[in-house]
Amino acid sequence: MSILNADLHCHSTVSDGTLDPETLAARARANGVELWALTDHDELAGQARARQAALAAGMAYLTGTEISVTFAGETVHIVGLGFDEAHPAIVEGLARTRGGRELRARDMAAELLKVGIPGAYEGALKYVGNPDLISRTHFARFLVEAGVCGDTSEVFRKYLADGKPGFVPHRWAQLGDAVRWITEAGGAAVIAHPGRYRFTPTEEFALFSEFKAHGGQGVEVVTGSHNAADFVKYAEMAGEFGLAASRGSDFHSPAESRIDLGGLPWLPGALTPVWELLDHRITRPG
Ligand code: AMP
Ligand code: MN
Ligand code: MN
Ligand code: MN
Repeated sequence: MSILNADLHCHSTVSDGTLDPETLAARARANGVELWALTDHDELAGQARARQAALAAGMAYLTGTEISVTFAGETVHIVGLGFDEAHPAIVEGLARTRGGRELRARDMAAELLKVGIPGAYEGALKYVGNPDLISRTHFARFLVEAGVCGDTSEVFRKYLADGKPGFVPHRWAQLGDAVRWITEAGGAAVIAHPGRYRFTPTEEFALFSEFKAHGGQGVEVVTGSHNAADFVKYAEMAGEFGLAASRGSDFHSPAESRIDLGGLPWLPGALTPVWELLDHRITRPG
């Protein structure tokens, strides 16, 4: 069961990806994906389209989202998989989480203006596919267009990361709430790309233990933002904390993403794949 081309993390124009759900489904299928989930940030508006396109293309589908959480002063992402997308717990929780983005975006533009970059709010809006979901990625694309930086990772490094001139601190959802919204709606909560957070070992241990205590069930072991050492480290942590393992590219855009849909290494064999826990939640074609 570990040898399944499952890609359970990616983004469409409903959040900060550049392809729409149908185009992503076709791309996933062409790359050999067998089980797919679209996991737009804090938003479910692409789910029906993604599921329909997946089934039409002959792929199995799990509902998905990626929830923004604030933990120990850092932004942590929690992926939800296989939940009921109409359940009020997750629908209302995500609506509240999305709510602060508009004001934050205006504040980001004001900060960028102070360092000599005008028009960033309007510029970012040109890249937004869903008015409820303006993100740093949209600002990054505008700053590349404006010639401020050569690519989006340079924009994050110089302007949008914590402590840089265009960064505006924001309080996202609480860890326990995000896990509860997902599990109450029948799904499994998964710690996204743990290798990306700048936590001390103590903080990381706290994240995993609190996540587990709240009912979290999985961790991304194989993701586009992990290197080979991270695969080994988080495979061990999954075993240590009794968490299932997930696999997802975190694909956003053909031009920006290093790893394509379906293009990751397999999950290490000794782990329980998260899709085994979610077998009853998978929609299958035919
Ligand atoms: P936001 O939810 O508005 O804070 O935006 C977060 C998004 O920014 C992430 O989901 C990534 O898509 C993108 N992002 C964060 N850090 C980087 C980075 N260093 N390089 C490129 N994209 C990044
Ligand atoms: Mn993103
Ligand atoms: Mn993420
Ligand atoms: Mn993501």
